Amino acid sequence: MIQIAKPHLTEEEAQRAYETVLTGWVTQGPKVQEFEENFSAYVGAQYAVAVSNCTTALHLAMIVSGIGPGDEVICPSLSFIATANAITYVGAKPVFAEVDPETYNLDVHDVEQRITTQTKAILLVHQMGMPADIESFTALCAQYDLQLIEDAACAAGSAYKGQKIGSHSDLVCFSFHPRKVITTGDGGMITTSNPTYAERLKLLRHHGMSVNDRDRHLSKSIIFEDYIEIGYNYRMTDIQAAIGIPQLARLNWLVTERRKIAFHYIEALHDIEWLRFPLEPQGSFSNYQSFCIYLRPECPCERNTLMQKLLEAGIATRRGIMTAHRELAYKNHCHGLTLPITEDVSDRSILLPLYVPMSATDIEYVISTFRNILGRL
Ligand SMILES: *Cc1c(COP(=O)(O)O)cnc(C)c1O
Repeated sequence: MIQIAKPHLTEEEAQRAYETVLTGWVTQGPKVQEFEENFSAYVGAQYAVAVSNCTTALHLAMIVSGIGPGDEVICPSLSFIATANAITYVGAKPVFAEVDPETYNLDVHDVEQRITTQTKAILLVHQMGMPADIESFTALCAQYDLQLIEDAACAAGSAYKGQKIGSHSDLVCFSFHPRKVITTGDGGMITTSNPTYAERLKLLRHHGMSVNDRDRHLSKSIIFEDYIEIGYNYRMTDIQAAIGIPQLARLNWLVTERRKIAFHYIEALHDIEWLRFPLEPQGSFSNYQSFCIYLRPECPCERNTLMQKLLEAGIATRRGIMTAHRELAYKNHCHGLTLPITEDVSDRSILLPLYVPMSATDIEYVISTFRNILGRL
């Protein structure tokens, strides 16, 4: 059976977790701090704030942006549902905009048409690790006085215009769920170069408490903490951070390997004219967190039939990215909203297996099975 994805975890991660457990310091402490310092240096941002996952990262990004009831935030419907949920958590309304069918990222012209006097922010997703057009959205946000928040859950190791994702704007949220390129089990990170945001994010993830556990532990004199505002328990543990440190050290290599597999797929299947491959625009560098192919209407096989036949041949696939506006959780709030491009790319695309290491035999098996199934039709 060829799986859709596998995290790249080794003895090294196991050893780091083991050592951390034996230090007796297992909640947010020195390992979280080290992971944050390494991560901010890696992306080229001033600060990185580790949290429990990307969903909580996005929630905190909404709070520090001052978004609340009555506000609107524009985001894609074509995303994992956590994107929209983070907006809903603060009482604001997600306003779903269309995507570009070739990159699966927000369409800047469609977004502009949905801006109202209530709009406070744009939540820009780098879908499947493909960088969205950050420059256009930065300009749009400046023009309409909106906050830009990046949902870079899938985009650790991706780059835009020569700089790593995480360095371009002041609230960039990452995920370390095992389906992403590097993992800490669960985990998240917010990068920023705004010291006020960094301070407040650290406060909010730790119950709004003025002193962190480590500082109190190391203090030579008694200190009492204050609770500055209502916060959350959104901390990452030191066990997770200890796993994240060697994962991050391996990130560039993982991205190189993932790109080789992605380009191999494209080269081996590019002659099939009713297939469309992910477009990497000029200036964008994708980590290929997922490899998505689109079946044009001329495709001789129904998407789900193709997925079933691949599964029977021992190859796991997944449907394309979900749409939030058609799920029960949002349907009633969307009042008959239709997003033709979003719905079409969601319904007509498939994710193929891609992980490191994926053997040449397995890659060839996916390619030949895919061609055989379609050849038989
Ligand atoms: C995975 C994902 C999330 C959620 O990340 P968690 O770390 O699992 O909370 C949010 N947005 C997008 C686009 C994702 O792919």
